[in-house]
Formats: sequence, structure tokens, C-alpha cells
Amino acid sequence: MRIGKFLYFGDFVVIPIAVLLLAAAAYVAGGLAAVPEFGLSLLFGAGLWTLVEYLVHRYAYHHAPILTPLHDAHHQAPLAFVGVPSFLSSGLILAVCYLPLRGATPVFAGGFASGMMLGYAAYMFVHHATHHFNIQPGDWLYEARLRHMTHHYREGVNYGVSTGFWDRVFGTLAARRERAADA
Ligand SMILES: [Zn+2]
Ligand SMILES: [Zn+2]
Repeated sequence: MRIGKFLYFGDFVVIPIAVLLLAAAAYVAGGLAAVPEFGLSLLFGAGLWTLVEYLVHRYAYHHAPILTPLHDAHHQAPLAFVGVPSFLSSGLILAVCYLPLRGATPVFAGGFASGMMLGYAAYMFVHHATHHFNIQPGDWLYEARLRHMTHHYREGVNYGVSTGFWDRVFGTLAARRERAADA
């Protein structure tokens, strides 16, 4: 859906604050001993995010009722501010990844949810950059830009935005076309 700048960029403010609060809560719960567990849980969450990103984009945004027309709006107007409203997405991650686990494993829950939110923020950043930044051959985001522009041109390929890893695993990685980067 089309949203204002506040809802489009809000996660870049909310997520760092949420991660700091979750880290503080983990420290209160477990002291310094919680640091390695929090860090590993964060890495796990960030890694798992890349798979969630692939699956949500491939199956929910491209094949689910209600969501597909909303995502089509982005495919038709790639430069418009179209997306899931900020506080909805980070709130959803907290509701699914943090709240159910908080009672049993508070440090893991905080690290895991932090990793998922940071992964989501990275995805948002990379996606915005592929469309709006002036990315040239050799720039670190050039691969991501080529990959995502190909997704906009061809059906059924390159669902991963922050990484092409899962497209490779599931056989949906499209060969890069230099021409696609001119879009
Ligand atoms: Zn798409
Ligand atoms: Zn796009």
C-alpha cells in the first residue's frame, strides 16, 4: 500500500531503539553472561530473516489474496513509497518472535527478535537503495540492484532482496543481465 514518509521510514528509528531496549532487558535478566547468548541469538534471527524475507516475498506478496494487489502496486510504481507501514512490521516481529518466547528464554527472545528486526531493516534499506540510489558497477549494492531489477522485469525469479542465497537454494535465481541495471 502507498504510505507516507513517516510510515515508510519509521522503522529505521523504531528498530534501533527496540534493539537497544531488548539488549538492556537481556542485560537486566542475565547480566554480562547474557551477552554471548544475545549475540548468537541475534545472528540466528538475522540469518533466519533472510529465509522469511524470501518466503514472504515469493508466496505472500506474489500469491496471497489481499497482499498480492498491494505488492503489485510496488511493481507498477517502483519509486512510490509503497510498503508495510513501519510500526505494523516491527510490531508484528515483536509479537511473533519476542512475546511468545519471553517467559521461557528472555535473553534468546530478545536477541532473536532483534536479529529479525535488524534483518528486516537491512532488507528495507537494500530494497529502497536498489530503486532510489545511484548505484554504479563496482558499488557494493550493484549485485543487489541487478538482482532486484531483474525481479521487476521477469516473472518468478529473484525473490531475495538482501541476498540471492535462497534463490540459489530454491532454483529461482535468474542470470544477471547488465541491461537490467539501467532501469
Ligand atoms: Zn515482487
Ligand atoms: Zn522493488
